[in-house]
Order: sequence, then C-alpha cells, then structure tokens
Amino acid sequence: MTMTTLAAVALTLVELPYAYDALEPYISAETLHFHHDKHYAGYVAKLGELIEGTRYATMSLEDIVLNSEGAIFNNAAQAWNHVFYFEQLSPHAKHKPSGELRRAIDEEFGSLEELKRRMTATALSLFGSGWVWLATDRDGTLFILATQNAGTPLTDGLIPIMTIDVWEHAYYLDYRNIRKEAVEDIWNIVDWRVLEDRYAAAVG
Ligand code: MN
Repeated sequence: MTMTTLAAVALTLVELPYAYDALEPYISAETLHFHHDKHYAGYVAKLGELIEGTRYATMSLEDIVLNSEGAIFNNAAQAWNHVFYFEQLSPHAKHKPSGELRRAIDEEFGSLEELKRRMTATALSLFGSGWVWLATDRDGTLFILATQNAGTPLTDGLIPIMTIDVWEHAYYLDYRNIRKEAVEDIWNIVDWRVLEDRYAAAVG
C-alpha cells in the first residue's frame, strides 16, 4: 500500500503483503506472526480503545501521529511505523536503487554501501528501542536518523523513505542479541522499488 492509503487507515489492521514465511531465512515466520499479529495488531487495538469518543476518532492515522502525544501518539505512531516497515519488504525485492533516489544517495553518502554502513552504525548507537530511518526533505536531500521508542521523522517535517525496526521484538527470535547482523540482513529483503516510489512521491 502507498503512503496515501496509509493515511486513511487509522484503525484498519493492514495484512502483510506476503506470506508469513516469505522472508525466510532473514525474518522467520515465527517472528512475523508475533511481530504482525501480536505487536502491530496490539498497537492498533490499543489505539482504538484510546481514541474512542475523542476528536482523534475521525482523523487519519497520520493526522493522529502529527497531533497527539503520550499514549495516543505512541500507539498511533507504532501502528504507522509498522505498516511502513512491513510494506517495504519483499521476497522478490529489487536489490539496488536506480534513478533519482540512486542519484540522491550517491550525492549525499557517496555510495550505497556507505548509506548502509551509516544506517548500521546509527542502529548500533541507538540505546534501547526505536527505529532507524532514511528520510528526505521536500527538496530531496536525504537524512539518516534514529528515533526512540515510537518516534517518527514525520514530526520533524521529514518524509520517511525506509525504516529499520530495532526494537528487540523485530529480531530477537532470529538473531538473539546480535542487532548488527539483523540490521545488515534487512537489505536482502528491502524492495528498492518501494523506496524509489516513496522518494518520487515525496519530492514530486
Ligand atoms: Mn516492531
């Protein structure tokens, strides 16, 4: 699904766009069952309880993220972040970027390998739970940043292009405590077609 539709699904439980075992050996079916059906679904359910009867009940998920704080923000942002995370992965991923996004990566980071190296370093320097992001501003300049817990670049006015979930629930069953390996392996299943589309939509 695209970011446009993502904005209109505040309380919709979005299904995985692939089978639970489709991302093996990098992400196991067991991890995806817990990650999607328990963690992500839990955020959606909790958000539903929290916003019932409030002004947030008629907002899009993105508007809730941009206009809330505390528990409502935490659950709304976690719901948004997880849909965004799941939709960028594919068993039939395009493994290298091209076009405008490739040019922007080369300009900002020098090479795709340097981008990956910096995202890994950012993930390893994040203490505790959170997310590592590749994001862009409206002019197309790319940024790598980490957010704690449910944090998102959206609240900094940046547009997310790619994210790595570095909560332990995203990798602990498959990688135990080896965050570095989990982060490096994600590139085997990140679909650059999705990222190119997100970048084009962001700067278009
Ligand atoms: Mn997660």
